[in-house]
Amino acid sequence: MISAHFHRKLAGRGRAGGRLRRTLGRTFALLVMLIGALGSTVVRPRTVTACRSSSAFFASTGVLSIRRWQSAVPGRAYPPLPKKAKAVAVPAAAETDNTVVSRLPSALTDIYALSEQELCGFLQNTLHQPKYRAKQVHAWLYQRGAASFEEMSDLPKSLRLGLAEHFKLGCLEVAFEQVSKDGTVKRAYRLADGQLIEAVLMPYEDGRRTACISSQAGCAMGCVFCQTGQMGFARQLTESEIFEQALLFSRDLTKGGERLSNVVFMGEGEPLNNRRQVFGAVRRLNADLGIGARHITVSTVGLAPRIRDLADAVDDPEGEGALLSQIKVAVSLHATRDAERTAIMPVNRRFPISELMAACQYYVQRTNRRLSFEWALISGQNDSPQVANELGRLLSPLKGKCHVNVINVNPTTGFEGQPGSKAAMDRFLNILNEDWGIPATMRVRRGLDINAGCGQLKNELLTRELSAKVLAATPPRSPEASSA
Ligand code: SF4
Repeated sequence: MISAHFHRKLAGRGRAGGRLRRTLGRTFALLVMLIGALGSTVVRPRTVTACRSSSAFFASTGVLSIRRWQSAVPGRAYPPLPKKAKAVAVPAAAETDNTVVSRLPSALTDIYALSEQELCGFLQNTLHQPKYRAKQVHAWLYQRGAASFEEMSDLPKSLRLGLAEHFKLGCLEVAFEQVSKDGTVKRAYRLADGQLIEAVLMPYEDGRRTACISSQAGCAMGCVFCQTGQMGFARQLTESEIFEQALLFSRDLTKGGERLSNVVFMGEGEPLNNRRQVFGAVRRLNADLGIGARHITVSTVGLAPRIRDLADAVDDPEGEGALLSQIKVAVSLHATRDAERTAIMPVNRRFPISELMAACQYYVQRTNRRLSFEWALISGQNDSPQVANELGRLLSPLKGKCHVNVINVNPTTGFEGQPGSKAAMDRFLNILNEDWGIPATMRVRRGLDINAGCGQLKNELLTRELSAKVLAATPPRSPEASSA
């Protein structure tokens, strides 16, 4: 009888039936939400992260998908996946904080990831050292170029052992290195999660030693003339992964009695899409390696709102702005018309030339600092006198506050464009300098004999690794098969 009544209600006959259905529906929805919330709480070693959803989980770690999370480093013990999580893609340009990724595979903490205060606190509280030891260790790490704790010869042995017990020196592993005839050193580094990134050291005759470093593993911007752009985006780099690229060059130079003088963010990635980590690294370059902010250049494809944000750093002269308003900003332009720029730099669809130039003018007005424009000369595409005149006209509102760096495009697999001729280069520079009064200089391409273009070494390395894997997985041919 009760059952018949219940079924009648559920079947929806009468007002009571509707009420019951609504009540059951709400209870069920509450249960689903509760289970979902519990299921998406992920516990990881040394880290507890509560994620709103599986996509938030992957976005927060910078891992592209479950498949890549599991296969990033075969054989490494990764934490269990959240149940029922689906493969999702991280929004290409999202600024994600994936500090945890670089810390996962090793039990030792990366000492370069500690601030001076954190190091000081650890030495005092855990290793019971007097305060001045922090200064000594700091000097060994950043000024005296120690590559191991053992080298820190004026520290007591017990302290060196204590440090080695808790810390490792960095998390970048040199996967490949090439040295050019002109002294340029190009390295591919393997990160703790298996990603590869590139960094280059360029020695100049005037004594400058410039490191070109990456801000992301891969890049989402898709510039067609760039090998990295063709490979796509993998993840954001952390502050210490960015800083360590320069530190390792600095360490090598220190051993030879030299010092790293300049750093340019022109390696893999769009630095202004990873600002928090990049600006953190800029602070470290300045504070730990003593590189003046005016010797640090951040290059951008032209993210107009981010250029405006940089200009607004002047509003914070007591804080971060003091440093950020001093760094150099370089804008990759490469074309004077939207259709042409969009064809080689897809970002132009989002921030067309008029919007970009308005942001550049805003930057110059607010900071009173000079902007650099990068121009990759491509034969037959953007090297004509007509284009040079268009560029002069476009930049004339910034006259006196801008400079053009013209560099012949690096021949890249997958891009048909070729470098311009010497005559075209001279003519182009001449028009800008003489006819428009816009200072323009030719940037000499470095390391031409060693694939020093952005992404080229990494591409070569990945191709080699892939061929090695294919070879290893291919069963040897039997003699009969060979003779057949
Ligand atoms: S040129 Fe720079 S911004 Fe463009 S795809 Fe290459 S790395 Fe990214």
